Amino acid sequence: LKMQMHRSERFALISEMAASIAHEVRNPLTVVRGFLQLGKSSADEKLRRYMEIAIAELDRAASVLSDYLDFAKPQLNNVGKISVSEKMTSVLKIVSSYASMNRVEITSGIGENLYVSGDKSKLKQALINILKNAIEAMPDGGTLHVETCSSGGKVSVFVSDSGEGMTSEQLQKLGSPFYTTKAQGTGLGLMVTFRLLEAMNATLKYESEPGKGTKVCIVFPEAE
Ligand code: ADP
Ligand code: MG
Repeated sequence: LKMQMHRSERFALISEMAASIAHEVRNPLTVVRGFLQLGKSSADEKLRRYMEIAIAELDRAASVLSDYLDFAKPQLNNVGKISVSEKMTSVLKIVSSYASMNRVEITSGIGENLYVSGDKSKLKQALINILKNAIEAMPDGGTLHVETCSSGGKVSVFVSDSGEGMTSEQLQKLGSPFYTTKAQGTGLGLMVTFRLLEAMNATLKYESEPGKGTKVCIVFPEAE
């Protein structure tokens, strides 16, 4: 018996597996984290320190799940026409508390009636990864600006931050697996993001200057 799978079937299978693994692994992590948190209050100084380390490492594991595996939501047939303005508004809501926690102000100019085609949850994952990075680049606060527009059959999304920026060497490494400059980073967010956007026939460009900030430009083919 010969078994053969097409690329797309294989990708669908892997996506489904990834989503269920993410789900199955996150639940026990959440339970363990809860007990460690509880135990912290009754533990002595040294034990408390160990528990803090354990919690930080659990959070890192959870980041790997959210950067790398979450996009592969198990629902099938999620592909279709997506309103970029609606998606952008909902994604900004998701990251807004993270932004205010970091004293980052969000400003936006989001155009109406912009449509692209693709998988909703994958686009959401890609945008969240980009926005999270922008916020994390501003540890002392700053401004995150998001803009969308269309022209000549293309829909563009711009995300700019007033954060620490990157050198040209750092820019070249973007998207390489496990490349991170953060203590708690996974270095998987942008690798996934580049792949997801590529699958939507979108292009992703970064412009950056150390100390000034970063501008991200995503260009999609416009859907009818
Ligand atoms: P992680 O966020 O876990 O570090 P990513 O793949 O999302 O992994 O990002 C890789 C690296 O790219 C980050 O560690 C950071 O150095 C750099 N980076 C990404 N976006 C920005 C940004 N907006 N400003 C500055 N550096 C960035
Ligand atoms: Mg990231």
